[in-house]
Amino acid sequence: MIVYFREHELHSMSSHPENARRFERLGTLLQREEVHTPEPVSEELVLRVHTRRHIENLRALSEAEAWADADTYLTKHSFTTALLAAGGAVLAAELATKHGCGFALVRPPGHHAMPERAMGFCLLNNVAIACRQMLARGMKRLVVLDVDVHHGNGTQEVFYTSPEVLFISLHQHPLYPGTGMVEETGEGEGEGYTVNIPLPPGTEDAEYLEAFELALDVAEQHSPELVLVSAGYDTAVDDPLGGFMLTQRCYAEMGRRLRRFSKVAFCLEGGYSSSALAAGVESTLHGIRGLSEEYEPAGGARLEEVRRILRRYWNA
Ligand SMILES: [Zn+2]
Repeated sequence: MIVYFREHELHSMSSHPENARRFERLGTLLQREEVHTPEPVSEELVLRVHTRRHIENLRALSEAEAWADADTYLTKHSFTTALLAAGGAVLAAELATKHGCGFALVRPPGHHAMPERAMGFCLLNNVAIACRQMLARGMKRLVVLDVDVHHGNGTQEVFYTSPEVLFISLHQHPLYPGTGMVEETGEGEGEGYTVNIPLPPGTEDAEYLEAFELALDVAEQHSPELVLVSAGYDTAVDDPLGGFMLTQRCYAEMGRRLRRFSKVAFCLEGGYSSSALAAGVESTLHGIRGLSEEYEPAGGARLEEVRRILRRYWNA
């Protein structure tokens, strides 16, 4: 159940790491899988996550082919491409609701996009928009599991005061954007519903999978009706931007362990090695379909501090 649209190519800049060549190895997968094409999201839905000023700003920047910040370019077609990418996340969530799994292979990515501005290659927060759509349809408990190597600061910001969406992020620290400390746990009614698990540069499969297991244990306690995975593959050992050392076996194992949830929607975030990205998506699908062997590498992470803070809210 892949969601893909070819017009992503219209948002591209060859000198920038987030360009259309990221998808150049996806051909075989797209030929083999059932591929669904998204519709652009409505402005009304975008407004449940972003300000009107941000939407108007994006439209103007796109028209001018200008940069939103030092990292984030726009082309003439970027605004419409962003609406399609967000529509892709919504469609993946709908497919997961109906069939158990959906995977939005879309770009530009979304998890750094803040309510009022674009940031870090992201224009609209695709996964947050999909959450808002599912909540509007009557779901009450969602989990966003962000496994991109960077902290999903935009998604965290959108749901920081909300108990409906439990946001859990595993990410490298220190690294861009610098947020995602374990002490950031949410506010007001949302206190406890933000979970950050920062991990050091050089993190390998064993340490990562221990942290991932902790994340799944916490996610399960929220009894989510749907788990949305912000799936970044910039955690791969050969990714040019991230400092983690994850292998393809780790991605398959993450997919396999996600089988404990009945409905899982994946939305692509980062991943800047086109070969690791394509292989990573294949491994994830292999795992979630129950086709991979159990993988438990020796070793582990030092998560005492994370567990100590999480225990205020969860069994951890
Ligand atoms: Zn990333």
